[in-house]
Amino acid sequence: MNKKWTIEEIRDYVKKNSDSVLLSTEYVGYSQKLLFKCSCGNNFEKTFTKFKGSNQKKCPNCQEARPSR
Ligand SMILES: [Zn+2]
Repeated sequence: MNKKWTIEEIRDYVKKNSDSVLLSTEYVGYSQKLLFKCSCGNNFEKTFTKFKGSNQKKCPNCQEARPSR
């Protein structure tokens, strides 16, 4: 049961849970890539699912490089 997010809820979530800002003004579905602005000034694209679930709340530059294996 997936919650249906609205763009307002997502913007709010991003504001409260990260240092990034949501730039996208439309949300169609969970597979859609959204545009974020990182606190460093970089823009980056990510699906909200990844942003929220995979703890990827920063741009690739700021995202701590974690060895994948
Ligand atoms: Zn950044």
